[in-house]
Amino acid sequence: MNILVINCGSSSLKYQLLDMTGESVVATGVIERIGEELGSITQKSNPDKYPDAKSVEQLPIPNHEAAMRLMVDKLVGEDWGVIDSLRDIDAVGHRVVQGGEDFSAPALVDKGVIRSIQANIPLAPLHNPANLTGIEIALELFHNTPNVAVFDTEFHQTIPQKAFMYPVPMELYTEFKVRKYGFHGTSHKYVTRTAAAHLGKPVDTVNLITVHLGNGCSMAAVEQGKCVDTTMGLTPLAGLMMGTRCGDVDPAIHAFVAKHRQMSLADVDAMLNKQSGLFGVCGMNDMRDIHAARAKGDDAAQLAFEMFAYRVKSTIGAYLAVLGGADAVVFTAGIGENDEDVRALACQDLEGLGIVLDPEKNGAREPGVRTISGRDSRVAVLIVPTDEELEIAQATQAIVNG
Ligand code: ADP
Repeated sequence: MNILVINCGSSSLKYQLLDMTGESVVATGVIERIGEELGSITQKSNPDKYPDAKSVEQLPIPNHEAAMRLMVDKLVGEDWGVIDSLRDIDAVGHRVVQGGEDFSAPALVDKGVIRSIQANIPLAPLHNPANLTGIEIALELFHNTPNVAVFDTEFHQTIPQKAFMYPVPMELYTEFKVRKYGFHGTSHKYVTRTAAAHLGKPVDTVNLITVHLGNGCSMAAVEQGKCVDTTMGLTPLAGLMMGTRCGDVDPAIHAFVAKHRQMSLADVDAMLNKQSGLFGVCGMNDMRDIHAARAKGDDAAQLAFEMFAYRVKSTIGAYLAVLGGADAVVFTAGIGENDEDVRALACQDLEGLGIVLDPEKNGAREPGVRTISGRDSRVAVLIVPTDEELEIAQATQAIVNG
């Protein structure tokens, strides 16, 4: 079974075609700057076989429909094509950012599902409309093919009310559904299942703290395989410090900055989303650049690094309390998988809580799932490379197979 996974953003389209027989990637691509004067499409075909080969083409791509047609042409084209026709695609899986309280599982797209995604637009005004556009065009292009929506929020729908409510007037919840939703759910779910398999335990018996550290960062407390808390909230701005997002701050910062800098609330919001986090503290948002700067004695870079790891560490402590102990702490995504310094600092001095890293294992640059805790660590520490596309493809396959 071939499954096409689509992640449609406001000006970009990422896609991956997977052959589910061996769960291998047949093609992967990204279309960028949709709607701008000059856009681009980059595709890798059979990347396992030809990891360094890619097709890059620049051309104007006026809208998402043009982008989707371009993707199809590339997938069936003579030079970089990997399939003979669209009929070789058995199902399409779509990433949808916000499913609100309507979705606690992936859903086969029908009119009702589309209405619910529309109804959740106020909660994700930038993302859901783009996701929906991708679905609507796919329904036209692949009209006899099942389309499945997989939500970033669904894994977090098991969070109990005492943890997802904010202590604000109840009407904000009853009228506007203001509450914690959490994001990166596809990643947290994938690493939960993969970590359980690595530990040799059924997924519904494991307690985990999953730590997704990429450009966006979030953590989840997972009890018996189900999410019971997470750091992101109503929006992906909450929780950990991120590349350019502030994470948790005193909520009064908005009013304070608006008053003293005479900024609109929208501008403060943009500042907290785009000019804060690592970037706000040291002017860099890529952890590799920050390490290079630290090595040259850059104090701001050192501070940003310490602040970043401190939040991860304090949340590990909080979630150990929430769970009453964990089988493992699981690091994933760009920083989580690759950055031994962040992992080391976030786990430093946690022996009392049963967490002991093995410095050699932590520093080893090996691919795949691995244990990096020491033998005397009560709580295992794991690295699990995330694969959100595979998670979406597996969910899509499960729905299609009934
Ligand atoms: P996204 O959230 O966009 O999916 P990724 O999971 O790809 O992001 O993570 C991107 C971040 O991972 C980069 O900003 C960079 O800081 C970090 N990163 C990637 N590779 C490394 C590395 N080898 N060492 C340290 N950090 C890395």
